[in-house]
Amino acid sequence: MEEKYILTLDIGTTTIRSVIYNSRTEIVGKAVDQVVLHYPIPGYVEIDPDELWKSIVGVVDTALQNAKLSAAQITAMGISTQRSTFITWSRQTGKPFHRFITWKDLRADELVKEWNDSYTWRLIKVGSYVLYMLSRSKRFRAGSVLKFTNNQTTMRLNWVLHNIQEFKSAVQKNDAMFGTLDTWLLYKITGNKIHMSDVSSASATGFFDPFTMQWAGWAMSLFGIPMGALPTVVDTAGDHFTSTSPELWGSAIPIRSCIADQTASMWGSCCFNVGDIKLTMGTGTFFNINTGRSPHASASGLYPVVGWRLGDEIVFSAEGANNDTASIIKWAQNIGLFDNPQDTADIAMSVPDTDGVFFIPAFSGLGPPYNDFTAASGFVGMKPSTTKAHLVRAVLESLAFRTAQLYTCVLSETSYNFSTIRLDGGVSNNDFVVQLVADLTGLKVERPVQVEMSSLGCAHIVGFQLGIFKSKDELKSLRKIGTVFTPRPQVKKSYEKIVTRWEDAVKRMCGWYL
Ligand code: ADP
Repeated sequence: MEEKYILTLDIGTTTIRSVIYNSRTEIVGKAVDQVVLHYPIPGYVEIDPDELWKSIVGVVDTALQNAKLSAAQITAMGISTQRSTFITWSRQTGKPFHRFITWKDLRADELVKEWNDSYTWRLIKVGSYVLYMLSRSKRFRAGSVLKFTNNQTTMRLNWVLHNIQEFKSAVQKNDAMFGTLDTWLLYKITGNKIHMSDVSSASATGFFDPFTMQWAGWAMSLFGIPMGALPTVVDTAGDHFTSTSPELWGSAIPIRSCIADQTASMWGSCCFNVGDIKLTMGTGTFFNINTGRSPHASASGLYPVVGWRLGDEIVFSAEGANNDTASIIKWAQNIGLFDNPQDTADIAMSVPDTDGVFFIPAFSGLGPPYNDFTAASGFVGMKPSTTKAHLVRAVLESLAFRTAQLYTCVLSETSYNFSTIRLDGGVSNNDFVVQLVADLTGLKVERPVQVEMSSLGCAHIVGFQLGIFKSKDELKSLRKIGTVFTPRPQVKKSYEKIVTRWEDAVKRMCGWYL
């Protein structure tokens, strides 16, 4: 039988990768490039669309070369992308009005604060839309507990509406197009044929209503978001994504799935059952719990997102996010704390403790349980005896502490019996961090052989769609677990005082930029 090949393209915030799998989910070719982030003004975090496009075309080319395959031999393609990062462009000319404004960008911070301060008041002001929201208690709970945040698209798009005149004029002439990264990529890769977003990416914008599965009318009217500029929202897999332009890689490749990276990684980790939980430690940290057919109404900041929709199958996920993880590692590397992230676990273990130094990882503020986007980052407690190794250990410990805090929120908001976390993402290569996560959460942590779960998840969905994989049980049987980290209760005990001191330090950093 002729072998089937699935090509995946995953656009993270740190890494762009293309991985080609065979029908046994073995990797036959792979290429990786770095996402170049631009910081033109403090707080701004942008991606240049031309640079990104060049990288995307390049990684797919290289992956095909590595696999010694031509585009014509690829059965189908799946795409996963970072969420909430967006761009706007002219329908007529295709020219962008600005660079990608990423989910890590803080330019709308003032708007975020303003709206969070007057949220209830403003909701009352908008009349029928709000009465509608209030009349549905579950929806109101989800909307009221959660604050507006910088990492949702809503406020940054509102900022564009206020500040980019060209976009404003284009909206009036019906010449404006909006797209999160997936939408823009689908548009470009198909030769401007489709303007679509799947439900999982749409649900991470902040203006998609997971209860009605449509763009939220109340958000359109509150924030002046132009409905005409928005993409059509579609199922996560199917032939509606058409195929790639033949001139890109020599032949058209059918695109059969486009999904948000976090829920792609739920597929990669086979989190198919209600209560299954995965943890991604990439640029940020993301806990995702499968909550089945119902969106999760939050009590402390877990966000309800759509996992995927495949015809009648709709799966929601409760998500706890901590925006800074690999971004902290990258920064620490840039300032010279170490040369290579792979060395950091050994460096941390070369000292018995941090010598009383703590690190607060809040470059984009702090998510649950603080939900404080005015928090500051920094080292606390440095002394003349502090060495680089202490600082490295403090940084790594802080990533595990934040992850454990997120897990406590998960426990407080859900009633599932968790015993195992399925892990992925670049930072999951770090034995020191992962072992500490197991110790502090008291859960077994399973690290798979391949930690590129978004790519594998894409391959799973595409293969499932095409009948290459017959069932979810078959996918589970293909799952390859590499290392299992078992919790050590005595270590948890020895960290009790340290975590309490660290939490004191964090509290001092909250509200810093008020
Ligand atoms: P994303 O998918 O969000 O783009 P990745 O999951 O690809 O990010 O993570 C890549 C990052 O993981 C690297 O840039 C590096 O900073 C970090 N990383 C990789 N290996 C290690 C390690 N052993 N220890 C700590 N961090 C690591």
